[in-house]
Amino acid sequence: MTDLERRQDRAPVPAGWEYAPAPESRDIVTLEERYGLFIGGEFVDPRSGEYFPTLNPGTEEQLAEVAQAGPEDVDLAVGAAREAYDNGWSSISPAERAKYLFRIARILQERSREFAVLESMNGGKPIRESRDVDLPLAAAHFFYYAGWADKLEYAFPNRRPRSIGVAGQIIPWNFPLLMLAWKIAPALAAGNTVVLKPAETTPLTALLFTDVVRQAELPPGVVNIITGDGRAGAELVKHEGVDKIAFTGSTEVGKAIQRELAGTGKKLTLELGGKAANIVFDDAALDQAVEGIVNGIYFNQGHVCCAGSRLLVQESIYEPLIAKLKRRLTTLRLGDPLDKNTDIGAINSKQQLDKITELVAAGEEEGAEIYQPPCRLPEKGYWFAPTVFTNVAQSYRIAQEEIFGPVLSVLTFRTPDEAVEKANNTAYGLSAGVWTEKGSRILSMAQKLRAGVIWANTFNRFDPTSPFGGFKESGFGREGGLHGLEPYLDLGESEVRGG
Ligand code: NDP
Repeated sequence: MTDLERRQDRAPVPAGWEYAPAPESRDIVTLEERYGLFIGGEFVDPRSGEYFPTLNPGTEEQLAEVAQAGPEDVDLAVGAAREAYDNGWSSISPAERAKYLFRIARILQERSREFAVLESMNGGKPIRESRDVDLPLAAAHFFYYAGWADKLEYAFPNRRPRSIGVAGQIIPWNFPLLMLAWKIAPALAAGNTVVLKPAETTPLTALLFTDVVRQAELPPGVVNIITGDGRAGAELVKHEGVDKIAFTGSTEVGKAIQRELAGTGKKLTLELGGKAANIVFDDAALDQAVEGIVNGIYFNQGHVCCAGSRLLVQESIYEPLIAKLKRRLTTLRLGDPLDKNTDIGAINSKQQLDKITELVAAGEEEGAEIYQPPCRLPEKGYWFAPTVFTNVAQSYRIAQEEIFGPVLSVLTFRTPDEAVEKANNTAYGLSAGVWTEKGSRILSMAQKLRAGVIWANTFNRFDPTSPFGGFKESGFGREGGLHGLEPYLDLGESEVRGG
C-alpha cells in the first residue's frame, strides 16, 4: 500500500456534509383508486370479485387496489390472447409487428419520467436507478427486438422460425417494468401473444404499461395483464391454452413450475436465484473494485438475482480492500426513494425485510462479524442498512442462501484455483465478477466459473443484445440477444442435412 493510500484510509469521513432534499415530484403520476384486469384490450372487473391493496414500501401508504385474478379470469385472459393470435397477430407481416414494438419503445422513452417515478413509488428503488437503468433498458429491449421481428430467417439461417402461440409470463418484484420488457418484447417480436402476471407487490408499472399498449394501437388481446398473488401465477402455469411459460423468480417456485409442466409439452424458461461470487485479485485497481463491489450488492437494495453477494478477496489485499469498502459504505445515502441523492431505497416488502433480518441474525449467530455504517433508518416503511459480513465460512447460511438484500458476505482465497473452487461452491450459477489487471486471468477464470454471465472489471452491466441466464439451480433458457428469441419460436427442421 502506498503512503497516500494509507493516509486516505485514515482520513476522517466528513461528518457535516448535508445534502439538501432533492425530491422528484410525484405529480406526474395519476393513479386510479382501483384497477381491474387488462384483458382483450380493456380493463374488466375480476370475476373473482377480489381486490388487494398495493403499497409504497417507503411509507407503507396504500397506493391503489388491484384485482386478484381467479381461475375464470385467467381463462378469459388466455382466451383473449388465443383469439388475438389466431385472428390476426400470427399472420400480420413481420414488418408490421416491428412497427408496434418500435412504437412501444418510443412511447416508453417519452413517458419515462412518469414510469420511473411510479416504479420507485411502488417498488422502493431509488429514482436514480429507475430513471437511469430500468427505463432506458426497458425501452432498449423493445427497440432491440423490434429490429429482429422481420429478420427472424436471418437470425436463424437454414431454419424455419415460426411463432408458438400464447406465452404465459410471470415476473418478480425487483425490476417490474424491466422484467416485463424482457418478457414481452421477444415474445411479440417472434409473433406470439402474451398473458403476463406481475408480482403481487409491484403491479403498478405493468398496469400503466397497458396505457402504452393502447397508445401504440396494439390489437386487443395481444398483451393481457392479470394481477394477483402466486395463485394467479399457478393458474396461468397450468392453463391448457398456454404454449410457453417464462418465469423469473425464486428457485423454489421455479422447481414447482417445472414439476407442474413435466410431460405437458409446453416450452419453459426459468430465470431463478443466484449467489454470485465477485472475485478480487491482488493486482486489481482497488478503488475501481470497491465501486464494483458496491454496485454489485447495494444496487437496488441487493434485490438482484445476479447480485455480487459473495465477495472473494485475495488474502494479500484483504485488509486495505475491506478498509476502503467500509469507508465507502459510510458515504452511501439511505432514504426516500424519490430523492435524487438516494443510493439505497426501501426494501420491497415487509415479508422480504423479515427474510433479510432472519438471515442476518443467522449470520451473527453462526459467528460472522457484522459491519453496518452509521445510518438512520426512516421510521415508517421497510428499511435495512447496508451490511458487510467478514469472517464468513463457506458453510454459513449467509454464504449459501440468496439473501436478496443489501448484505455482503466476504470470504478470502490465496490462489486462482481456490477462488474458482469457492466461487463454484454454490447450488446457483447465474453470474460472477472478476477483478484483475491480467487479461489472460480473466479468460482463464471465465472458462472455469460455472455461471451464465461473467463480468470482468465491472458488475451488473446489462444490454439487450447480450444473453442472460443461469447454470444449475439458477435456471435454464436465455433472455436477451438472439438466444432470447429462441424460446418463443418453433425453429422447425434444419434444412441442412448431415452438416
Ligand atoms: P416468487 O418466486 O414467489 O415470485 C415470483 C413470481 O412468481 C411472482 O409473480 C409470484 O407471485 C409468482 N408466483 C408465486 N408462487 C407461484 C406459483 N406457485 N406458481 C406460479 N407463480 C407463482 O418470489 P418471492 O416474491 O416470494 O420472493 C421470494 C424469494 O425469491 C426472494 O426472497 C428472493 O430470494 C427470491 N427471488 C428471486 C428473484 C430472481 O430474480 N432471481 C426474483 C424474486 C425473488 P406473487 O408476487 O404474488 O408471490
